[in-house]
Amino acid sequence: MQTTFSLAQLADPHVAESESILRKCVHCGFCTATCPTYVTLGNELDSPRGRIYLIKDMLENGRPADSEIVKHVDRCLSCLACMTTCPSGVHYMHLVDHARAHIENTYRRPFFDRLLRSTLAAVLPYPGRFRAALTLAKVGRPFAGLFRAIRPLKPVAAMLELAPTSVPKASPVSQPARHAPQGERRGRVALLTGCVQSVLDPAINEATVRLLTRLGVEVVVPQGEACCGSIVHHMGREEAGLAQARNMVDVWTREIETGGIDAIIVTASGCGTTIKDYGFMLRLDPAYAEKAARVSGLTRDITEYLASLDLPAPARQPGLVVAYHSACSMQHGQKLTRQPKELLKKAGFDVREPREGHLCCGSAGTYNMLHAEISQQLRDRKVTNIEATGAALVATGNIGCITQIGGASALPVVHTVELLDWAHGGPKPAALGALG
Ligand code: SF4
Ligand code: SF4
Repeated sequence: MQTTFSLAQLADPHVAESESILRKCVHCGFCTATCPTYVTLGNELDSPRGRIYLIKDMLENGRPADSEIVKHVDRCLSCLACMTTCPSGVHYMHLVDHARAHIENTYRRPFFDRLLRSTLAAVLPYPGRFRAALTLAKVGRPFAGLFRAIRPLKPVAAMLELAPTSVPKASPVSQPARHAPQGERRGRVALLTGCVQSVLDPAINEATVRLLTRLGVEVVVPQGEACCGSIVHHMGREEAGLAQARNMVDVWTREIETGGIDAIIVTASGCGTTIKDYGFMLRLDPAYAEKAARVSGLTRDITEYLASLDLPAPARQPGLVVAYHSACSMQHGQKLTRQPKELLKKAGFDVREPREGHLCCGSAGTYNMLHAEISQQLRDRKVTNIEATGAALVATGNIGCITQIGGASALPVVHTVELLDWAHGGPKPAALGALG
């Protein structure tokens, strides 16, 4: 694609990066077929190619964002299916991240939208606040219908409906600690216990620690861990996202330079995609660029790390039929497609892959709250495809997908690592009930 940025514009390294991305696009449109918003809405402006044109026009003309571009960029799930499909290697993720930051800096959103986004950014990354908000949501849930009837408050209704009816107790695993390996030590890793996931489903980190220590891996939860920055980063809040990223780089750098670690283990693939991009996000910060790149280089999804170990034969063969849902951040963001399925198969599960596996379930961070209607259409399409496999349960590697699919399917939805821990001698995941 030809661009006409001036030399003065290209002096801004963010613009220069976006220009090099834009130049790779050959407008072929292959990406439209796999874009969930284009497939759902049928509007070229809600396709990757349409958004690329809109972003190009905004940046090239040095314009502030307007309501039209905000509408179409906001509707993007950042699922990155377009990056998997694109034959020209267009790095849509970095382009849309830049566009979101530009929108945040140049566009004044309507009052309720601003309030809502500020509330999400102030609550979700902080487990204590998030836990309190979920308790409040129980009180507010009976009013969800009322909120839904008032257009600007629809996202509040979506939040109330997504909030679980009961919140698990906080787990000690989320606290800073060193978990000793069983037997001879074969590795040492730092575990990101996360923010939203540690509140909604602490059993995931518990299963991770049990499985890794059973396999002889020492697990450290370092002091000072907090949100990785993914939530606010995807809302275009660049400075807040970078501040959270810097905190995590500091935390892990201390651990790397004192105890030494083989990997940083992440159990939410959305977070993993962001942390693997820290090297890029902090490339312009001389104090952090090198450390951030090192952190990104050490980051592994739990299934990616387990696949690098020589796992013993499973302790039990549950023999259950599992539909594996590959989160977008897992398959498109981190390109991890083989490992989770192979691990489940080796552990004795009969793994089925739903049709249209490349399409997002509509969760996408805060998307299912901010764009509930599109999100629910995608969720229902996903659940139909999953249930058509005839599986008894669903496995996936991202808390957002677990909540989203679990909210609409009668099937239990669990994290892949919970099934692996069970097969290798851990307790049965509570969500499975009488299954197995
Ligand atoms: S990230 Fe997903 S929703 Fe956004 S343009 Fe690409 S395919 Fe479409
Ligand atoms: S597939 Fe790639 S090159 Fe083709 S229109 Fe989409 S982003 Fe551009």
